[in-house]
Amino acid sequence: MPAPKSKLPRLSPSRINTFLGCAMKYRFQYVEAVPGLPSEAMVRGSFVHRVLELLLTRERDERTIDASREDFETAKQEFLNRDDFRLLLLSGDDESAFWESSRECLRAYYRIERPTEANIVELEKWVTTPLGEFEIGGFIDRLERDAHGLVVSDYKTSRPKPVHYSTDNFRQLTYYALMCETQLNETPHSVRVYYLGGGKDEFPRDQRVVSQAVTPTTLNEVRDTARRVFGNISTAESSGEFSTNVTKLCEWCDYKEWCPAHGGDLTRAREEGTARVGIRRREAGLPVAP
Ligand code: SF4
Repeated sequence: MPAPKSKLPRLSPSRINTFLGCAMKYRFQYVEAVPGLPSEAMVRGSFVHRVLELLLTRERDERTIDASREDFETAKQEFLNRDDFRLLLLSGDDESAFWESSRECLRAYYRIERPTEANIVELEKWVTTPLGEFEIGGFIDRLERDAHGLVVSDYKTSRPKPVHYSTDNFRQLTYYALMCETQLNETPHSVRVYYLGGGKDEFPRDQRVVSQAVTPTTLNEVRDTARRVFGNISTAESSGEFSTNVTKLCEWCDYKEWCPAHGGDLTRAREEGTARVGIRRREAGLPVAP
């Protein structure tokens, strides 16, 4: 579902997180718009989100095991026709392993929650809030209600991270809590991450489900961070200077080969990225833009 249009410049929580992680990466992704290839982990994440969306959209008493098998098959048929899945070029054992690893994430979900008991308020809900000369906006994956009130939550198909390493995830979800406060006139009391990766019995429930309270302090922090990032992006865009942040995460950065911090030439990124995606699209039997 596309985001509604806005008169104000808009930042999404993921854009803010990208800029905070590395301004140069933000430039590659959002300013130069260098086309990239999807990773298997990204597509698996989208697939598992889709199956759970189909399941939890059903009435509570209809969220049975048979229904989840049906939803898995529905989502599978959708993904077999989606560009991001086809660009992975999976076949044979690799494709079977993809579906099996997705099933394993869904088994992990069943070990931490009974879908018939999930009190879902909204799924994939668009929320936004103005912050002066710009706005923040995005889709909440899952808004639920427990005994204490609203909770903004999300699934991660990665292995569980301890609470103190989940800061980025919590910050991202707290932006959504801020948007709920404005848009729904109700402030969620917590943000929550459901980690669905990792092997069977490897992690107990309290490591898979991690939460952080939403407080006036955490809301002010994300509000201030969003304003600071918006100002820094505007300055970087007018000066053309985006700083690099070299860390071990560079090993997983899609743009490392063109990154000036690693001896790359950023002026080649767009053309070479476009050519690479074009080659993969041909291999996948997908149309290539002229
Ligand atoms: S390789 Fe590292 S420094 Fe360069 S853009 Fe990526 S994250 Fe930033």
